[in-house]
Amino acid sequence: MITIQDISKVYTLESGDFYALKKNNVQIKKGEFVAIMGPSGSGKSTLLQLIGGLDHPTSGNIAVDGVQLNTLDEKDMTLFRRTRVGFVFQNYQLLPMMTVGENIALSLAANKASKTEIDKRVKQLLKEVNLEGKETQFPSQLSGGQQQRVAIARALAMKPKLILADEPTGNLDQKNGEDILQLLSRLNKEEQITIVMVTHDQQAAAAAERIIVIRDGEITADRKKGVINHESMVGSMA
Ligand code: ADP
Repeated sequence: MITIQDISKVYTLESGDFYALKKNNVQIKKGEFVAIMGPSGSGKSTLLQLIGGLDHPTSGNIAVDGVQLNTLDEKDMTLFRRTRVGFVFQNYQLLPMMTVGENIALSLAANKASKTEIDKRVKQLLKEVNLEGKETQFPSQLSGGQQQRVAIARALAMKPKLILADEPTGNLDQKNGEDILQLLSRLNKEEQITIVMVTHDQQAAAAAERIIVIRDGEITADRKKGVINHESMVGSMA
């Protein structure tokens, strides 16, 4: 599903080159639920953004679902993001002036779906995230947990096989956080959606089957549940 080859991301600062990511290699298979952990500033979000085509690596290649991201021009990259990946962020990133239904329909409308198709799909998606009947409400009228459910419905709109979630429970209390993790787990198990989730929360990471640890831009551990801890040496070339 995801092949990451020798990925580096370098920022040129006054003080010199800063490696946010250093020559990382990793493969994620279809249907995996992976948590990316590590201290703040270690490169977790950068890696997620590169996988999702929100940013370009300085060097290295990423392939997602058979698509080599470095071969895409900006137009195809936009299409890739809209159709192949569902993004979920810590602060939900819903548009406050739009209703729940309009927020969910954004990518469907951009892909020129008809009004009837959109209405039907929005209803389906709201049912899937347990928010039936909320289409005409505004995000501000919903709780944080409900807003994150709307964000997940929006992420699912184009039926992507991959969800990238950056601290999806970071703004939520325990109960709402657990509900969101349960929803992600269900999507992973029942719909075989591959999930890559950045989190610093052990409890959130426990929902995943595999944990990749990043420190100072390098993957330092990669372990699967039920497998004896295995410190990986990948990515330490730079
Ligand atoms: P994490 O998600 O693990 O907290 P990030 O991926 O957000 O870390 O950031 C990794 C490192 O890259 C941090 O040290 C951050 O300050 C740096 N960084 C991110 N974006 C930029 C940028 N645009 N310019 C310079 N440094 C950046």
